[in-house]
Amino acid sequence: MRWTSTFIPTLKENPADAEIVSHQLLVRAGLVRKLTGGLYTFLPMGLRALRKIERIVREEMNRAGAIEVLMPALQPPDIWQQSGRYVSAREVLYKVRDRANKEWLLGPTHEEVITTLVAGEISSYRQLPRNFYQIQTKFRDEIRPRFGLMRAKEFIMKDAYSFDVSDEAAQASYQKMYDAYARIFHRCGLRAMPVEADTGVIGGKFSHEFMVPAESGENEVVYCESGGYAANIEKAASRGPLVPTPQSNSGPALEKFPTPGVVTIEALSRAPHRVAPHQQIKTLVYVVESKLTLVLLRGDDQLNEAKLAGALGTNQLRPATADEIAPVLGAHPGSLGAIADTLKAEAASLPVYADEALRGAGGMTTGANEDGYHFRHVQIERDIRVTRWADLRTVQAGELCVASGQPLKVRRAIEVGHVFKLGTKYSEKLNALYLDESGTQHPCVMGCYGIGVTRTLQAVIEQSHDKDGIIWPLSVAPFEVCITPLSVAPDSPVMQCAERIYAALIEAGIEVILDDRDDRPGVKFKDADLVGFPLRVAVGEKSLARGEIELKPRGGAVAPVKTEFAVEAVRTWLETARADFRISNLKSQI
Ligand code: ATP
Ligand code: MG
Repeated sequence: MRWTSTFIPTLKENPADAEIVSHQLLVRAGLVRKLTGGLYTFLPMGLRALRKIERIVREEMNRAGAIEVLMPALQPPDIWQQSGRYVSAREVLYKVRDRANKEWLLGPTHEEVITTLVAGEISSYRQLPRNFYQIQTKFRDEIRPRFGLMRAKEFIMKDAYSFDVSDEAAQASYQKMYDAYARIFHRCGLRAMPVEADTGVIGGKFSHEFMVPAESGENEVVYCESGGYAANIEKAASRGPLVPTPQSNSGPALEKFPTPGVVTIEALSRAPHRVAPHQQIKTLVYVVESKLTLVLLRGDDQLNEAKLAGALGTNQLRPATADEIAPVLGAHPGSLGAIADTLKAEAASLPVYADEALRGAGGMTTGANEDGYHFRHVQIERDIRVTRWADLRTVQAGELCVASGQPLKVRRAIEVGHVFKLGTKYSEKLNALYLDESGTQHPCVMGCYGIGVTRTLQAVIEQSHDKDGIIWPLSVAPFEVCITPLSVAPDSPVMQCAERIYAALIEAGIEVILDDRDDRPGVKFKDADLVGFPLRVAVGEKSLARGEIELKPRGGAVAPVKTEFAVEAVRTWLETARADFRISNLKSQI
């Protein structure tokens, strides 16, 4: 490919709306252009890198025994009604109408479609297991599309769905996908770590997200350096808070005391009251499926809404407003509590969910359900009627790992993939049933597995760049080699030499771009670094006079090479780079 025959609109300045470096580089290196927020056009260099990632994904999915299909992006709403997600997923669903005013959905995911297919095509255990996948465009009405391809309204996903006869068989399918994902991200040159993920209302322990550590990531990952534990913070557990909860079951009676104007944990911890946050009980009020629910945590803990949703068995929850709370509890946030004797008749029947860290707590302080008052000497088991104990708190860095006892770390990360054991939720609702050997009917046991292909592309850039631009891993670079002739006059020895090398590299099956632009060398070198080609071959008058060209790996040092060995040197460099990668691949699998 010649630079002038393709389209690589590089920019000197960062686009104003690009907050993170990978978004800036995507645009500056001319890989994509924004149509409008959350919608992007892939330009040739971006498209080449994207196709390479797709190819790696496809090879590994095929290797793992998955079968490629292509489903419609436009979907009928009735299957979504049937699965129950027409309502539960309504926030992300794009809906369109046809000429007869009938409604259609733009698919944000494809469980409903694939399960309908399987319901029609598979009826016997002899046809199972099956794993179908596709690489296709998804549509999601995201609240905040941002960070370029990271969170877009329209993006490319690889989604796979497995169908099995039993739980054990489904676990084997899950493991195959887990292993395939590890290989895919590694081959893309990404350091992605699998972490345990929230399984939401479905429950169970089979859900992992593949996370690329990055400051710009929208997720937080809790992990133990011993390597034995890593989980999304929504799911992560620990051995509990570092400062233990005061315990007592024989303390003095409750005592109400005035706390005028004190409405935060922090304010109560200061003079004159001086109640340390871990000696306070924080009372939150949630609206759960339109009913108020009290949630108790230690004052120094943060609620983890995903854990609360899991404990409640529903995603339909939100914090109650002060206007919803005051009439029922008789006080405003900051003075709330769950002491049984302070609850008015209407409030006494509300469910109380308490965090495990509060078990056995004594000598605690909590709101009195009267503005400007708190209670001290609270013994949770004596004074509060807890409906249910559950792990509801967010783990903090430094707490000890449940498995190893080592301090846990927390870091930000980008979710590039997700594997999930679904069970029979969709197969039951959409009738994906099979007959076993004895002729009895069962729902298929399903799993679903997604990779954000376009997000992965950007994650590679987020993880691999320097101040000059992108540093592509060889496996996903738009071109492996960029030849930069310092003069481009057609009959100049420089251009003739560049053309010879160009033709020979093409002949050798190497992906090469010839920068034939009539521009200053500085401009061309800068662009080659910005776009991030793994190897640059510079052909200039001075070095040519010595019978040499110059090789420069991206991010490495210049190496002069005799002109007659140029092609051989490029080939050797690429082979060595690939071999190094294979060795590290091998190591990562041991
Ligand atoms: P997130 O939590 O980031 O919204 P999700 O958990 O809703 O993602 P899944 O339904 O698990 O996403 O989709 C599978 C993969 O698709 C994700 O792991 C992610 O890589 C990618 N993905 C999801 N939403 C988007 C988006 N709006 N833009 C780009 N990629 C996305
Ligand atoms: Mg996910």
